Amino acid sequence: MKKGNRKVIALTQIPLRLRAPVLLTCDVVCSVVRDAVVDIAADGRIAYAGAERDAPGWNGAVRGLTGILMPGLVNTHAHTPMSLLRGRGGDLPLTDWLRNAMWPAEGMMAAGDTRAGMMLGSIEMLRRGVTTSTEMYVHTDEMIEAVAATGARAVLTEAILAGPAGASWEASVADIGNRIDKLGLVTGPGGRIELGYGPHSAYELPLQALRAIGEEAHRRGALVHIHVAETVGEDRPQRAAFGSVPQLLDHVGLTQGRLLAAHGVHLDPRDIALFAEAGTGVAHCPSSNAKLAAGVAPVVELREAGVRVGLGTDGPASNDRLDLLEEARSAALLARMHGGDPAAMSAVDALMLATRGGAEALGRDDIGTVERGRFADVVHVSVDDPAFATGLDVPDDELIANLVWAAGSRTVTDVWVAGERVVEAGEPARVDREAVGSQVAAAAARLRVPAVAAR
Ligand SMILES: [Zn+2]
Repeated sequence: MKKGNRKVIALTQIPLRLRAPVLLTCDVVCSVVRDAVVDIAADGRIAYAGAERDAPGWNGAVRGLTGILMPGLVNTHAHTPMSLLRGRGGDLPLTDWLRNAMWPAEGMMAAGDTRAGMMLGSIEMLRRGVTTSTEMYVHTDEMIEAVAATGARAVLTEAILAGPAGASWEASVADIGNRIDKLGLVTGPGGRIELGYGPHSAYELPLQALRAIGEEAHRRGALVHIHVAETVGEDRPQRAAFGSVPQLLDHVGLTQGRLLAAHGVHLDPRDIALFAEAGTGVAHCPSSNAKLAAGVAPVVELREAGVRVGLGTDGPASNDRLDLLEEARSAALLARMHGGDPAAMSAVDALMLATRGGAEALGRDDIGTVERGRFADVVHVSVDDPAFATGLDVPDDELIANLVWAAGSRTVTDVWVAGERVVEAGEPARVDREAVGSQVAAAAARLRVPAVAAR
């Protein structure tokens, strides 16, 4: 990401040292550090992460923990306010589900509903160790409010559609640009909010819209986040004209900037080579793809080609869980089934996709690992669980296997974002979970009432 255009509010907090028997750094070789400390500076960034015996002197506060420290998980594809619509149309094919189940209800959704739905999903993710989510939705001001309230980090790429119900794509593009120019590309305490562009898909928008979005985003160094090749039938006209949607995106110039392709299930070798060459990120959403019977993305081939791959939950009406460690497990299961190969994806590979891989797919070098200089987005996993009954003094790969295959997110107890504790003993530290749940229940009931005919 370009360094300019940042209006990050500097944090000044009490420096904190976290001490734990195990640290999973998710650095480039997935180092596992025993008897580790993570030093968090007053600016919310990591000053030191490694073995305590090699650590510099420390005068600040120290918190001793008994389990595993690891990076906050990075969700690369979500529509989190759809927590309001959970359970609806769960057996429909994609186009039918969008047009007949989702979009009519979303058309009735007020900005305050979006805020409530985002808050509920943000709390759900934080409690499962997901510190960053990449969102494609509307009502961006309320999305910012929701994330600011829970203390999570988000990349908010406002959805752009050309449909008759919504605003024109031109107005959406102008709104996004104006907001970035006013607030900064990265904004908020601890740089918690990044703004970007979320064109829904090449099959929902005209070529001139995609071209204009690419130009506007590229000029601002902003991320473009778009659905690509999710289901086999969605993009027949685009395939007929350009060979594939990735080729179309290349034709309109979108691959020249920061581009994140969600799903990428139906990609051929030429598409994969194009994404690798262009540095395009892919948000692999295994559970959502399986639920929709969309297919299995060629994740092994993508990674072998050098494509930056992260994991996504997709929206909570598509999955229906906002649990990235479960996506890591599903990614490994499906990769193995798809290739008929038990070595197709290891637990280490899956953990790396959920952390470092997600940051890379977003083009971010300040999150996704526990390394000096990055934001202190850190998760503590309790090992008081049968998944870890064989102890912590097992080989590194066994420890990570126990986390990914057996434990999952149920063992997450505490979460810090930019060094600030946002989950404490499993509960959100900043917001009242039950009050948010009541708001969502009320909004969801209202969204069932048929829309009042236009006056
Ligand atoms: Zn999606």
